[in-house]
Amino acid sequence: MPSLKYTTTGLTRGWTRVLNDRRMENPIAGGIKKSSTPDKEPPLILIVDDDRFMRDLLRQVMEKEGYRVAEAENGLQGLEAYIRLHPDMVLVDAIMPVMDGFTCCTKLQAIFEDDSGEYDFASHTPILMITSLEDSKSVDQAFEVGAVDFVTKPIHWAVLRQRVRRLLEQAQLYRQLQAANEELQRLAFLDGLTRVANRRGFDQALEHEWRRLIRESVSAKNAGTETHFVQNPSSLSLILCDVDFFKRYNDSCGHLAGDECLQQVAEALRRAVNRPGDLVARYGGEEFAVLLPNTDAAGAVSVAQKIRTEIRNLQIPHPTSSVSEFITISLGVTATIPCPNTAPCELISIADKALYQAKESGRDRLILKIFILPN
Ligand SMILES: [Mg+2]
Repeated sequence: MPSLKYTTTGLTRGWTRVLNDRRMENPIAGGIKKSSTPDKEPPLILIVDDDRFMRDLLRQVMEKEGYRVAEAENGLQGLEAYIRLHPDMVLVDAIMPVMDGFTCCTKLQAIFEDDSGEYDFASHTPILMITSLEDSKSVDQAFEVGAVDFVTKPIHWAVLRQRVRRLLEQAQLYRQLQAANEELQRLAFLDGLTRVANRRGFDQALEHEWRRLIRESVSAKNAGTETHFVQNPSSLSLILCDVDFFKRYNDSCGHLAGDECLQQVAEALRRAVNRPGDLVARYGGEEFAVLLPNTDAAGAVSVAQKIRTEIRNLQIPHPTSSVSEFITISLGVTATIPCPNTAPCELISIADKALYQAKESGRDRLILKIFILPN
């Protein structure tokens, strides 16, 4: 069995202080999700070197800096240790028996890409190559296989310390930046008033589900599964709903009450729709959309009825409504099995027609229109 040392001794508070200072300097860092290295746990450095004396020296220096250290004797052990420990950084010697540093580095890149599915800096662990070969070919090779920096033997310890520190800080900043970008993207798809998805979020989800369900129904057909329109697992349902006489409500109760009413309606819709893949969105003004993947017409009608019950239970007084003393909604419900020759906007168009019909026939009701696509 390869020997693998793992130690958490010799920690100092230095690193935590560096991170906290960074956070003060960096305005986007506040309130975003944590990096893979919690503040209280110092970064873990994996040292991969066949020279035991060099490993001992590196460990002492790294521990003195406040880092945790794991060791491996060659590239192969280094890969095993990486997979098991997920270190924050890898210091790898270039020349080693069994597997050299260049091969180890190449294989680590493949692991990073498998993890993230695509190249992205935030999911990459910085690799610093240690080489006694100062010729330009080895340096070029180190960068080619994905090392982000290198130091040469004999090691200039102050240089090594600064490079390690800088690379760890950069990796931390990449992670913070990625988290901030994810948060911005989430906010870009959210309606500010009601906190449900906005129109852009809805459009994206509709496109995504449409394509996904086409793939799903194709693979069901290939597997020889019979598909029927009713109770088809690849169905996509859409409910469009509109608050009845909302303009009158705004005129009589004021816009602040109008905003509050929309917030309560959105909350009621969320209560009625509770599967993880379902989406409630503000479609525009007082109109909301509910997207129900893998839901057939019967399932959609059942959700629509639940929505009506939730809205009725709100008992928001509507002094100028012609249909009730409380806020009510009209709903247009439709369902289809997505197919490649049709655009998802046709589903919206059918739901819109159903909604129009619900309003025309007296409001405070739901109308179902089934949408059968040519196969
Ligand atoms: Mg060596």
